[in-house]
Amino acid sequence: MPARPEPRPGVMKIDAYVPGKSKASGVAKIHKLSSNETPLGPSQKAIEALRSFDHLELYPDGTATQLREAIGAKYGLDPHRIICGSGSDELLSLITSTYVGPGDEGIFSEHGFLVYRIAILAAGGVPVVAKEKDYRADVDAILAQVTPKTKIVFLANPNNPTGTYLPFDEVKRLHAGLPSHVVLVLDAAYAEYVRRNDYEAGLELVATAENVVMTRTFSKIYGLANLRIGWMVAPAHIIDAVNRIRGPFNVNGPAMAAGVAAIQDDAHIARAIEHNETWLAWLTRELEALGLTVTPSVGNFLLVHFPQQDGRTAKDADAFLTSRGLILRRIDAYGLPHALRLTIGDEEANRLVVETLREFLGQGDHA
Ligand SMILES: *Cc1c(COP(=O)(O)O)cnc(C)c1O
Repeated sequence: MPARPEPRPGVMKIDAYVPGKSKASGVAKIHKLSSNETPLGPSQKAIEALRSFDHLELYPDGTATQLREAIGAKYGLDPHRIICGSGSDELLSLITSTYVGPGDEGIFSEHGFLVYRIAILAAGGVPVVAKEKDYRADVDAILAQVTPKTKIVFLANPNNPTGTYLPFDEVKRLHAGLPSHVVLVLDAAYAEYVRRNDYEAGLELVATAENVVMTRTFSKIYGLANLRIGWMVAPAHIIDAVNRIRGPFNVNGPAMAAGVAAIQDDAHIARAIEHNETWLAWLTRELEALGLTVTPSVGNFLLVHFPQQDGRTAKDADAFLTSRGLILRRIDAYGLPHALRLTIGDEEANRLVVETLREFLGQGDHA
């Protein structure tokens, strides 16, 4: 008998998620470009809804009816097929613990979002990693990892931190290759940013298959990361199962009120998309012009690769940028020690990143 309580197998294998930094000492102004937050902030209507929220003494609506109806109206979905969560992170964990038990396997791709590994280990399952090609998920590699123990497959589309995506044809091929009892989770946290004709976030597959779930979030383009709101859409039998283990009041009232207002503010989302279009392209061009390799991104962030040369590494660049108040994301934990992830910021931040990296790489004006 152990002398003190022992966590379940798997728990101590988890490296706790380390959020992007938000501080740099000794600099007047900080630009936080480390967590893929929007530089535009939330809709003014969402802020007003939050401010005018009353009756904090009452429990929230545990079924999130108004928010599910607002989401349903926006996407043409049956609200009964939607569950809201305290961020989509909560939903990723709930789906995993609904379908994965001790010894079961869950698959995700090499540089996939770290929350999947944590959710699988927390459920007592075994994380299985599928190799990527050119920083993109590889359908054949994922399918090659399927065994009789596989219960769940996660695909972030587009993926964080790489910014790459799979066209709908490839997602359909992945789904077609999976046994029908394996849950396919399509994490579409950045779907609103994608401007590609061959992209589909997942609605179509969820509507036609019995084993596909799509998760979405209010944390990214909606600018409500602090309120923690996410949602998932799934077939009725999955909704029924997940609702049994969901906490009864898992989303709070002020968050839901803001979410309802935010999802109806199309003009704000259009502005955010336009801002991203402009600056994603600009930053990609400018960073490439400095000689850096940038993985083509469809999200609101860029994977920037640095030389493995003393003084010019990603670690050196991070220290230099931080000393100027520019906080990017180190991604060693994603198996990418030679790259940094840069969130598209406001104009001032974007220009400052390019100028600072120009200086770092020694290409500044030496007049
Ligand atoms: C940011 C992000 C999420 C969203 O997390 P929330 O818990 O909703 O804030 C989900 N998946 C990926 C891939 C992300 O990058």
